[in-house]
Amino acid sequence: MTSPDRVHIVGAGLAGLAAAVALSAGGRRVALYEASQHAGGRCRSFFDSELGCRIDNGNHLLLAGNTAALAYIERIGALDTFERPEAPAIPFVDLGSGERWELRPNPGPLPWWLFDPRRRVPGTSPGDYLQALRLRRAPADATVAGVLDSGTLLFRRLWQPFAVAALNTSAKQGSARLFWRVLVETLGRGGAACRGLMPREGLSESLIDPALALLRRHDAEIRFGARLRGIDFGDRQAAELLFDAHRVSVGPSDSVILAAPASVAARLVPGLTVPDDHAPILNAHYRYVAPAEAPLFAGLVGGTAEWVFRKPEVISVTVSAADRLVDEPADSLAERLWRDVAAAYRIPATPVPPARIVKERRATFRATPAQLQRRPAAATQWNNLHLAGDYVDTGLPATVEGAIRSGLIAAARAGRDHNASAAVIPVTIQRTQTPETTEDRQRVLP
Ligand SMILES: Cc1cc2nc3c(=O)[nH]c(=O)nc-3n(C[C@H](O)[C@H](O)[C@H](O)COP(=O)(O)OP(=O)(O)OC[C@H]3O[C@@H](n4cnc5c(N)ncnc54)[C@H](O)[C@@H]3O)c2cc1C
Repeated sequence: MTSPDRVHIVGAGLAGLAAAVALSAGGRRVALYEASQHAGGRCRSFFDSELGCRIDNGNHLLLAGNTAALAYIERIGALDTFERPEAPAIPFVDLGSGERWELRPNPGPLPWWLFDPRRRVPGTSPGDYLQALRLRRAPADATVAGVLDSGTLLFRRLWQPFAVAALNTSAKQGSARLFWRVLVETLGRGGAACRGLMPREGLSESLIDPALALLRRHDAEIRFGARLRGIDFGDRQAAELLFDAHRVSVGPSDSVILAAPASVAARLVPGLTVPDDHAPILNAHYRYVAPAEAPLFAGLVGGTAEWVFRKPEVISVTVSAADRLVDEPADSLAERLWRDVAAAYRIPATPVPPARIVKERRATFRATPAQLQRRPAAATQWNNLHLAGDYVDTGLPATVEGAIRSGLIAAARAGRDHNASAAVIPVTIQRTQTPETTEDRQRVLP
């Protein structure tokens, strides 16, 4: 039985949720299908029995310059579930030298903070920062380390940690152009855009559950345990969605937004090219109450841990592009990373508190120049089928902001389908199927 005028959204990660929220809030009927039993995809919280509390799959740092993410958070009514540092300052510790400083860009876009040694990276001069302008004109195949001088203190203390965190790719491999885009949207907009936002309780409580609540208020149909296995294509239209236990007809004025990860989309949509090289992110969560004066988050330079986050009962550490660490046993990682945390927060290095190591082996696509070439647009050759997900070509790295923007782009396209209301009767049926056993990502717990 076909329901008129629905948008079928496959995948309840941030991209799918952002599309669903935008369409529902705009009065469209939405059906959301999620393969697992929970929403959030790569951005969610869960109860960890080892630690006896809820943790996030990975720390997610949002900045006020993430405009689409902020608008989404406001729309789902979750702004007050975030903590923000009082000032737009990013604390850093150099674990090698013991030096501590705060990067404190001034609020507006005119970067006078560079001329104040208390606001910039110690040991650097204003002229050093000009080198970043080279990124703007970098060729498409240039990498961050190929354009910026990797021997400088500024590179070690700012460009490298920032690039690795934003791109989830080493500076040697990461695209210079993509990093430029990140800088434009953050530091380039001044300190106000660099103010961090951290979920007070957890990712699900701030970014996922309020979205589901909004969707329910708008009578969206939400189905968990609904894994899309194939799509029947008609004449330039997606005609039927094939799930394990049921099929859903796509009405002539319906649209489909495929918001599943890249590898799943590539199996479902014939001829689709997607990024196929992924980089891991490693998180260590410790059951430990940090000193009240410890910053909400801090960048660590010269150790193994890269960012440390203070939460109510947990201290968490993130290492991006963690290829060198993913095969190391959890116990040894817990010890190694805790040494860095202890130095950063000035707390005892022994004993190591109860820890949970979460290795997301395929956290995001690797943002190399070659992988960027493989990012598809939201449009497909089928009029009513649109792609969403952090891998879609938004011009941003695979981030919360990128995923949400891709969802909004797909939602806007679905809105245009609706207005056009082109009723096309399926003529030739082409079918794609995904194998039974495919798993789109792998979590390895100790
Ligand atoms: C450990 C970690 C740390 C990160 N840190 C940051 C950070 O600090 N800042 C930042 O901005 N970003 C960060 N990211 C990236 C961010 O989480 C992702 O870019 C974003 O969550 C991707 O959302 P998505 O909707 O595109 O994909 P996903 O979250 O992968 O959502 C896809 C959804 O589709 C579902 N699905 C899959 N197959 C099917 C199917 N066949 N049928 C139906 N449903 C299906 C999946 O179960 C999933 O729920 C991090 C990611 C990880 C893993």
